[in-house]
Amino acid sequence: MDTTKYPHPWEQDQALTDRLLKLVDDEDWDLFGIADVGPLNEKARPGRRPKDLWPTAKAVLMFAVGLADPFTRGWVQNGKSGKFYSYALLELDRRVWTVKRFLRQEGYLYFGGESYGGALFDTGIRFADAAADCGMGYIGKSNVLVTEKYGPRINMTYLMTDAPLVTTIKEVPSRCGRCTACQQVCMSGAILGDYYFHQRQCEAIINVKPNMDYYSDFVKQDCDRCLRVCPQGKVHWTDGKEVKP
Ligand code: SF4
Ligand code: SF4
Repeated sequence: MDTTKYPHPWEQDQALTDRLLKLVDDEDWDLFGIADVGPLNEKARPGRRPKDLWPTAKAVLMFAVGLADPFTRGWVQNGKSGKFYSYALLELDRRVWTVKRFLRQEGYLYFGGESYGGALFDTGIRFADAAADCGMGYIGKSNVLVTEKYGPRINMTYLMTDAPLVTTIKEVPSRCGRCTACQQVCMSGAILGDYYFHQRQCEAIINVKPNMDYYSDFVKQDCDRCLRVCPQGKVHWTDGKEVKP
Protein backbone atom coordinates (compact mmCIF):
# COMPACT_ATOMS: atom_id res chain seq x y z
CA MET A 1 0.00 0.00 0.00
CA ASP A 2 1.25 3.46 -0.89
CA THR A 3 1.37 5.25 2.47
CA THR A 4 2.03 8.65 0.85
CA LYS A 5 -1.41 8.41 -0.79
CA TYR A 6 -3.14 9.03 2.53
CA PRO A 7 -1.49 12.06 4.15
CA HIS A 8 -2.94 13.18 7.50
CA PRO A 9 -3.11 16.67 8.99
CA TRP A 10 -1.80 15.27 12.29
CA GLU A 11 1.64 14.08 13.30
CA GLN A 12 1.95 10.44 14.22
CA ASP A 13 3.40 9.81 17.67
CA GLN A 14 6.11 7.14 17.51
CA ALA A 15 6.84 7.15 21.27
CA LEU A 16 3.14 6.59 22.10
CA THR A 17 2.97 3.82 19.50
CA ASP A 18 6.07 2.15 20.94
CA ARG A 19 4.50 2.13 24.41
CA LEU A 20 1.34 0.51 23.02
CA LEU A 21 3.30 -2.07 21.03
CA LYS A 22 5.33 -2.92 24.15
CA LEU A 23 2.07 -3.55 26.01
CA VAL A 24 0.94 -5.84 23.18
CA ASP A 25 4.30 -7.59 23.23
CA ASP A 26 4.34 -7.99 27.02
CA GLU A 27 0.87 -9.57 26.88
CA ASP A 28 2.02 -11.87 24.06
CA TRP A 29 -0.77 -10.98 21.60
CA ASP A 30 0.37 -12.45 18.32
CA LEU A 31 -2.43 -10.90 16.24
CA PHE A 32 -2.67 -7.13 16.55
CA GLY A 33 -2.43 -4.26 14.09
CA ILE A 34 -2.97 -0.52 13.73
CA ALA A 35 -4.88 0.35 10.55
CA ASP A 36 -4.91 3.70 8.79
CA VAL A 37 -8.31 5.43 8.61
CA GLY A 38 -7.38 6.91 5.19
CA PRO A 39 -7.70 3.78 3.00
CA LEU A 40 -10.66 2.51 5.04
CA ASN A 41 -12.52 5.79 4.52
CA GLU A 42 -11.80 5.53 0.81
CA LYS A 43 -12.51 1.83 0.21
CA ALA A 44 -15.58 1.18 2.38
CA ARG A 45 -19.03 2.12 1.23
CA PRO A 46 -20.81 5.08 2.89
CA GLY A 47 -22.09 4.09 6.32
CA ARG A 48 -19.25 1.60 6.83
CA ARG A 49 -16.35 4.06 6.90
CA PRO A 50 -14.55 5.04 10.12
CA LYS A 51 -15.47 8.68 9.47
CA ASP A 52 -19.19 7.75 9.42
CA LEU A 53 -18.90 6.22 12.88
CA TRP A 54 -16.51 8.70 14.42
CA PRO A 55 -15.25 11.60 12.25
CA THR A 56 -12.24 12.43 14.45
CA ALA A 57 -10.85 8.87 14.60
CA LYS A 58 -7.17 8.72 13.71
CA ALA A 59 -6.53 4.97 13.80
CA VAL A 60 -8.39 1.66 13.91
CA LEU A 61 -6.83 -0.93 16.21
CA MET A 62 -7.44 -4.53 15.19
CA PHE A 63 -7.36 -7.41 17.66
CA ALA A 64 -7.61 -11.11 16.86
CA VAL A 65 -7.38 -14.32 18.82
CA GLY A 66 -6.23 -17.50 17.15
CA LEU A 67 -8.56 -20.45 17.58
CA ALA A 68 -6.38 -23.43 18.39
CA ASP A 69 -9.36 -25.83 18.40
CA PRO A 70 -13.06 -25.79 17.42
CA PHE A 71 -14.13 -25.67 21.07
CA THR A 72 -12.56 -22.23 21.50
CA ARG A 73 -14.60 -21.11 18.52
CA GLY A 74 -17.81 -22.55 19.99
CA TRP A 75 -20.37 -21.21 22.44
CA VAL A 76 -20.75 -22.30 26.06
CA GLN A 77 -23.87 -21.79 28.12
CA ASN A 78 -23.40 -19.95 31.38
CA GLY A 79 -25.30 -21.92 34.03
CA LYS A 80 -29.04 -21.37 34.12
CA SER A 81 -29.04 -17.92 32.50
CA GLY A 82 -29.61 -19.49 29.10
CA LYS A 83 -27.01 -17.21 27.51
CA PHE A 84 -24.19 -18.57 25.39
CA TYR A 85 -20.69 -17.16 25.69
CA SER A 86 -17.67 -17.52 23.47
CA TYR A 87 -14.25 -18.11 25.01
CA ALA A 88 -12.64 -16.33 22.08
CA LEU A 89 -14.83 -13.24 22.44
CA LEU A 90 -14.20 -13.10 26.17
CA GLU A 91 -10.47 -13.14 25.46
CA LEU A 92 -10.90 -10.39 22.84
CA ASP A 93 -12.86 -8.25 25.29
CA ARG A 94 -10.09 -8.63 27.86
CA ARG A 95 -7.49 -7.46 25.35
CA VAL A 96 -9.60 -4.50 24.26
CA TRP A 97 -10.14 -3.39 27.85
CA THR A 98 -6.38 -3.42 28.46
CA VAL A 99 -5.87 -1.07 25.51
CA LYS A 100 -8.83 1.10 26.54
CA ARG A 101 -7.17 1.61 29.91
CA PHE A 102 -3.86 2.44 28.20
CA LEU A 103 -5.48 5.04 25.93
CA ARG A 104 -7.48 6.54 28.77
CA GLN A 105 -4.35 6.92 30.90
CA GLU A 106 -2.54 8.54 27.95
CA GLY A 107 -5.41 11.05 27.58
CA TYR A 108 -7.10 9.76 24.42
CA LEU A 109 -10.64 8.76 23.52
CA TYR A 110 -11.81 5.48 22.00
CA PHE A 111 -14.92 4.05 20.38
CA GLY A 112 -16.13 0.51 19.71
CA GLY A 113 -14.66 -2.78 20.79
CA GLU A 114 -17.76 -4.41 22.26
CA SER A 115 -18.33 -8.02 21.22
CA TYR A 116 -21.67 -8.71 22.81
CA GLY A 117 -25.13 -7.27 22.38
CA GLY A 118 -24.90 -7.48 18.59
CA ALA A 119 -22.04 -4.96 18.41
CA LEU A 120 -19.63 -7.45 16.89
CA PHE A 121 -21.86 -8.20 13.92
CA ASP A 122 -23.52 -4.81 13.42
CA THR A 123 -20.45 -2.61 13.50
CA GLY A 124 -19.76 -0.41 10.49
CA ILE A 125 -16.12 -1.44 10.14
CA ARG A 126 -15.34 -4.45 7.99
CA PHE A 127 -12.83 -6.25 10.17
CA ALA A 128 -11.10 -8.34 7.51
CA ASP A 129 -10.32 -5.29 5.33
CA ALA A 130 -8.97 -3.30 8.27
CA ALA A 131 -6.87 -6.25 9.46
CA ALA A 132 -5.52 -6.91 5.96
CA ASP A 133 -4.56 -3.23 5.63
CA CYS A 134 -2.39 -3.43 8.71
CA GLY A 135 -0.59 -6.61 7.74
CA MET A 136 -2.36 -9.23 9.85
CA GLY A 137 -3.07 -11.42 6.81
CA TYR A 138 -4.68 -11.42 3.38
CA ILE A 139 -8.27 -11.66 2.14
CA GLY A 140 -8.92 -15.26 1.02
CA LYS A 141 -11.35 -16.50 -1.63
CA SER A 142 -14.01 -16.93 1.04
CA ASN A 143 -13.59 -13.23 1.93
CA VAL A 144 -12.15 -13.93 5.36
CA LEU A 145 -8.83 -12.83 6.75
CA VAL A 146 -6.24 -15.58 6.32
CA THR A 147 -3.35 -15.32 8.80
CA GLU A 148 0.09 -16.88 8.76
CA LYS A 149 -0.26 -18.69 12.08
CA TYR A 150 -3.95 -19.63 12.32
CA GLY A 151 -5.14 -19.42 8.69
CA PRO A 152 -8.75 -18.15 8.82
CA ARG A 153 -9.38 -19.72 12.27
CA ILE A 154 -9.54 -16.48 14.24
CA ASN A 155 -12.02 -14.12 15.87
CA MET A 156 -11.54 -10.37 15.58
CA THR A 157 -12.70 -7.10 17.00
CA TYR A 158 -11.68 -3.45 16.67
CA LEU A 159 -11.24 -0.22 18.59
CA MET A 160 -11.12 3.26 17.07
CA THR A 161 -9.15 6.01 18.74
CA ASP A 162 -8.19 9.64 18.28
CA ALA A 163 -4.64 8.79 19.41
CA PRO A 164 -2.17 9.72 16.62
CA LEU A 165 -0.64 6.25 16.40
CA VAL A 166 1.80 5.13 13.73
CA THR A 167 0.02 2.58 11.57
CA THR A 168 1.42 -0.91 10.97
CA ILE A 169 0.77 -0.95 7.24
CA LYS A 170 2.00 -4.05 5.43
CA GLU A 171 0.65 -5.94 2.43
CA VAL A 172 0.51 -9.73 2.79
CA PRO A 173 0.30 -11.52 -0.59
CA SER A 174 -2.50 -14.05 -1.17
CA ARG A 175 -1.57 -17.73 -0.84
CA CYS A 176 -4.93 -19.14 -2.01
CA GLY A 177 -3.53 -19.94 -5.46
CA ARG A 178 -5.59 -22.71 -7.12
CA CYS A 179 -7.09 -23.91 -3.83
CA THR A 180 -10.90 -24.15 -3.72
CA ALA A 181 -11.24 -26.19 -0.51
CA CYS A 182 -13.54 -23.73 1.30
CA GLN A 183 -15.83 -23.47 -1.72
CA GLN A 184 -15.98 -27.26 -2.19
CA VAL A 185 -16.89 -28.00 1.43
CA CYS A 186 -19.54 -25.30 1.85
CA MET A 187 -23.02 -26.81 1.65
CA SER A 188 -24.89 -23.50 1.66
CA GLY A 189 -23.50 -21.85 -1.46
CA ALA A 190 -22.15 -18.99 0.63
CA ILE A 191 -18.68 -19.37 -0.90
CA LEU A 192 -18.44 -19.16 -4.67
CA GLY A 193 -14.69 -18.51 -4.83
CA ASP A 194 -15.25 -14.94 -5.99
CA TYR A 195 -13.77 -13.34 -2.85
CA TYR A 196 -17.31 -12.55 -1.70
CA PHE A 197 -19.08 -14.14 1.25
CA HIS A 198 -22.83 -14.61 0.86
CA GLN A 199 -23.65 -14.27 4.53
CA ARG A 200 -27.39 -14.94 4.39
CA GLN A 201 -26.75 -18.31 2.71
CA CYS A 202 -24.39 -19.29 5.51
CA GLU A 203 -26.71 -18.10 8.27
CA ALA A 204 -29.56 -20.14 6.85
CA ILE A 205 -27.43 -23.23 7.44
CA ILE A 206 -25.41 -22.69 10.58
CA ASN A 207 -28.30 -21.75 12.83
CA VAL A 208 -30.03 -25.09 12.22
CA LYS A 209 -29.02 -27.56 14.93
CA PRO A 210 -28.47 -30.66 12.74
CA ASN A 211 -25.94 -28.66 10.69
CA MET A 212 -23.88 -27.71 13.70
CA ASP A 213 -20.60 -29.47 14.19
CA TYR A 214 -21.66 -30.31 17.74
CA TYR A 215 -24.39 -29.20 20.09
CA SER A 216 -25.80 -30.07 23.47
CA ASP A 217 -27.80 -28.14 26.05
CA PHE A 218 -24.60 -26.44 27.16
CA VAL A 219 -22.17 -26.29 24.21
CA LYS A 220 -22.64 -25.58 20.52
CA GLN A 221 -20.20 -25.37 17.66
CA ASP A 222 -21.20 -23.85 14.35
CA CYS A 223 -20.57 -25.47 10.96
CA ASP A 224 -17.20 -23.74 10.36
CA ARG A 225 -16.17 -26.35 7.77
CA CYS A 226 -14.74 -23.61 5.55
CA LEU A 227 -12.37 -22.69 8.38
CA ARG A 228 -11.50 -26.28 9.22
CA VAL A 229 -10.44 -27.27 5.70
CA CYS A 230 -8.37 -24.22 4.86
CA PRO A 231 -4.77 -25.46 4.47
CA GLN A 232 -3.30 -22.09 5.41
CA GLY A 233 -1.81 -21.39 8.84
CA LYS A 234 0.46 -23.40 11.09
CA VAL A 235 -2.14 -24.28 13.72
CA HIS A 236 -4.91 -26.58 12.45
CA TRP A 237 -7.93 -28.18 14.06
CA THR A 238 -7.10 -31.66 12.87
CA ASP A 239 -4.72 -32.57 15.68
CA GLY A 240 -4.04 -29.32 17.45
CA LYS A 241 -0.37 -29.45 16.49
CA GLU A 242 1.56 -26.90 14.49
CA VAL A 243 1.83 -28.36 10.99
CA LYS A 244 2.89 -27.06 7.61
CA PRO A 245 0.06 -26.73 5.04
S1 SF4 B 1 -19.75 -21.95 8.08
FE1 SF4 B 1 -20.45 -23.69 6.80
S2 SF4 B 1 -22.21 -22.92 5.66
FE2 SF4 B 1 -21.10 -21.14 6.47
S3 SF4 B 1 -19.70 -20.53 4.81
FE3 SF4 B 1 -18.56 -21.92 6.15
S4 SF4 B 1 -18.83 -23.97 5.25
FE4 SF4 B 1 -20.40 -22.61 4.37
S1 SF4 C 1 -9.55 -22.84 1.76
FE1 SF4 C 1 -8.16 -22.39 0.04
S2 SF4 C 1 -9.26 -20.92 -1.26
FE2 SF4 C 1 -10.31 -20.96 0.75
S3 SF4 C 1 -9.36 -19.28 1.89
FE3 SF4 C 1 -8.22 -21.15 2.41
S4 SF4 C 1 -6.48 -21.19 0.96
FE4 SF4 C 1 -7.99 -19.73 0.15
